[in-house]
Amino acid sequence: MDRFQLYIDGVFEDGAARFPSLDPATGAAWTDMPEAREDEVNRAVTAAHRAFITGPWPKMTATQRGKLLMKLADLMAEAAPDLARLETRDTGKIIRETTAQITYVADYYRYYAGLADKIEGAHLPIDKPDMEVWLRREPVGVVASIVPWNSQLFLSAVKLGPALAAGCTVVLKASEDGPAPLLHFARLIHAAGFPPGVVNILTGFGATCGQVLTTHPKVAHIAFTGGPGTARAVVRNSAENLASTSLELGGKSPFIVFDDADLDSAANAQVSGIFAATGQSCVAGSRLLVQAGVKDAFLAKLKEKAEAIRIAAPDDMATEVGPLCTARQRDHIIATIAASQAKGAKVITGGAPLPGAGFYFPPTILDCSSAPEAPALAEEFFGPVLAVESFATEEEALEKANATAYGLASGVFTRSLTRAHRMIRGIRAGVVWVNTYRAVSPIAPFGGHGLSGHGREGGLAAALDYTRTKTVWLRT
Ligand code: NAD
Repeated sequence: MDRFQLYIDGVFEDGAARFPSLDPATGAAWTDMPEAREDEVNRAVTAAHRAFITGPWPKMTATQRGKLLMKLADLMAEAAPDLARLETRDTGKIIRETTAQITYVADYYRYYAGLADKIEGAHLPIDKPDMEVWLRREPVGVVASIVPWNSQLFLSAVKLGPALAAGCTVVLKASEDGPAPLLHFARLIHAAGFPPGVVNILTGFGATCGQVLTTHPKVAHIAFTGGPGTARAVVRNSAENLASTSLELGGKSPFIVFDDADLDSAANAQVSGIFAATGQSCVAGSRLLVQAGVKDAFLAKLKEKAEAIRIAAPDDMATEVGPLCTARQRDHIIATIAASQAKGAKVITGGAPLPGAGFYFPPTILDCSSAPEAPALAEEFFGPVLAVESFATEEEALEKANATAYGLASGVFTRSLTRAHRMIRGIRAGVVWVNTYRAVSPIAPFGGHGLSGHGREGGLAAALDYTRTKTVWLRT
């Protein structure tokens, strides 16, 4: 069996200790993982800093960096079956989704490979005839990338791709839950030929690994994805090193269905919008706002589709919903449903974990139309639970859509172009999908505001965020 190791300064090693990793399909340990603590974090950051200052990374051209990223993308495509299998085994994400996701994860690296030599400075037309003034774009330095357990290959690609293209070096901390795909990815980084120290990959716990990494004086930028509570700790930590931060956090994204929408198409989008990845997705369309006149018809469609979903072992290609990643996640969902029922929410389907081994929870629909205080409307489940509200008018839809501390994603389903435009203007979220949901591309920036964080991933802007300008004045 694979022995998973940390990757520090171009060398694989066992770490300070080893901890069991659970198979979410059975709830039992299937292997053990290396744990990074203070010493490993310090050595990883020192290696990344040395690689950034003395090289050979800073001496390589942007085109050479791009070629390495392209090689990495090719290796990922070749290793896709292994990466998908490991992600499925260690996190419970279904094989159909992990397999599909690797393809576009590789595309993110390809996009940033192509962008590496297109990050340009500027010439400034200063009002002095004997002066040449220009801006150089330079990489910010050592980047600490921290990801949660869902979609670790994707969430790290949107950080490493732009950071490496810009010329930064990276210490990537995989989640302690399900780190196998990223520890395997470290082997591809090595095989691609990145110089030692340019990318270091660790896993470990928040208090003993993440904490040391985010307070380290040699870290210049922290790119964090996770929950808002952890993000607050990370931002407090950044006061130590005055590192800049980009935060991709949770969501409680509204999925708005008007009575003129194509209800079948909206129902399909809603089902994948909430139940894909067993609901463990930051952009999950977890709050359905449906216009009162079509509420019953739409819920009937959703119920039928939800109950037809095939829940089974995640490594079966026919499975549509697999287990949650952790027992902690399952228990949080159970408690939030119970608290919502206490406030008047009604279970339309699902609502209780499946009996037997593993962390299985069925697709669940909770009608909260008469339960405005239900926590299901305000709190992120990060699981396959859809909270339903209804509305009478467009104004009410907008008001309810924006009644959230989050601001990540949103969906609008209508055949009216003018209404779609009004909703696009009015919704406070980083993404608005109209008559579609969940579409992503390396070219399109992604991110939120409020409790959903700040900063953008994807697109040129993300690469520029890993640079700073240097103003040069040259007397001629
Ligand atoms: P989490 O916040 O508990 O953990 C995320 C990471 O932070 C883990 O690697 C963890 O070890 C680390 N960490 C914990 N304490 C730390 C500390 N003090 N200092 C530094 N690092 C520390 O998140 P989770 O529960 O694993 O993941 C779920 C959350 O992630 C949800 O809220 C979800 O919405 C969010 N998420 C957001 C996006 C996005 O792009 N916006 C994508 C996926 C997930």
